[in-house]
Amino acid sequence: MKAKVALIKGDGIGVDVSDATMTIVSTACDKAGATKIEYDEIFAGAGHYATHGVDIEPGGEERCGAADAIFLGAIGLPSVRHDDGTEISPHLRLRDRFGLYAGVRPVKAYPNAPQRLADPRAAGIDMVILRESTEGLFYSAAVHKRSQIIDDAEVRDTLRITRSTTEKLHRFAFQLARKRRERGKSGRLTCVDKANVFTSMAFFRKIFDEIAAENTDVETGYNYVDAQALDLVRRPWDFDVMVTENMFGDILSDLAGGLVGGMGMAACAEIGDSTGLFQPAHGSAPDIMGQDKANPLAAILSGALMLDYLDEKLTDPRYGAAAALIEGAVDRGFAENRLRPMEFGGDMGTRAVTDELLALLAS
Ligand code: ATP
Ligand code: MG
Repeated sequence: MKAKVALIKGDGIGVDVSDATMTIVSTACDKAGATKIEYDEIFAGAGHYATHGVDIEPGGEERCGAADAIFLGAIGLPSVRHDDGTEISPHLRLRDRFGLYAGVRPVKAYPNAPQRLADPRAAGIDMVILRESTEGLFYSAAVHKRSQIIDDAEVRDTLRITRSTTEKLHRFAFQLARKRRERGKSGRLTCVDKANVFTSMAFFRKIFDEIAAENTDVETGYNYVDAQALDLVRRPWDFDVMVTENMFGDILSDLAGGLVGGMGMAACAEIGDSTGLFQPAHGSAPDIMGQDKANPLAAILSGALMLDYLDEKLTDPRYGAAAALIEGAVDRGFAENRLRPMEFGGDMGTRAVTDELLALLAS
């Protein structure tokens, strides 16, 4: 079955890393015998807003909904904002519209990429942070713009946890942990919360326990978010999958990303009931745009997450095989010191990294 993907390249380096991703995904699909993906390119972003006065072309959101998945490069430019000063962010509307509750952020150490921890075990960091992305503490502020201004002496934000979303999130977490175990990882799942202080977080943990009772094959643990921050610096190699609230996940995923190098390696998937959005975790990086300096690997690894998703959604294992080819090529490229992105002080720009990855896929 032919997969259809809505493609938003967006702004700045988003365009370059999207092009690199399409090239690699297409080659990997060929090699795995998977049908080529059909792309529906949709124009959106700050640049589009500046020239057309809208942040996404008319009908663009509907076309995203009609595709099997959405791929996004990066959106936003510091020079282009709404009149009230807020950023151009059609992708946040997509997250809301399609209920993309499961934010998946893999964190993996690669040989020859920057390593912040001296302990040799840091070379084995390979984990995933699963961040709820539609409610939590972001709900009132970012999602529904309902921060409560009492008066000039007090402002309130609300941490909202619903049973329906939390059940789906935890089910997703258990499935992910199981999938990782099948791929040779520990598959241990940690619920990260602050259940000792917040009733909302105790509720989050209670639902985790309910779902755990249906999935007794998965090894589980708990950690309070403050302790988790400490442990991610002290012994990150002990963790496999962590599931947590929106704001906690936002902070922990930046912390974890910092442990294993730069933004150019941070892949991201946002999954909902009917579709998934795949994008590198970095922004449009206007400071290096148009200079062939961006590391395309975060986008390319997000492309691999997308292929894995298409495998499941369309029950076509050839897409999963293509994802494994890409991940394997990146692993090998670093192990053999053939991938040396400028971001890490290396000599390879966007095109050189892409070409080397093509060579790795061919051999
Ligand atoms: P956003 O608000 O969209 O998250 P941001 O302000 O956090 O954006 P980014 O665009 O992510 O900023 O860039 C942060 C820094 O990381 C910049 O110095 C940028 O050059 C660098 N950077 C981001 N992505 C990459 C990449 N793929 N390769 C190399 N450097 C990158
Ligand atoms: Mg940022």
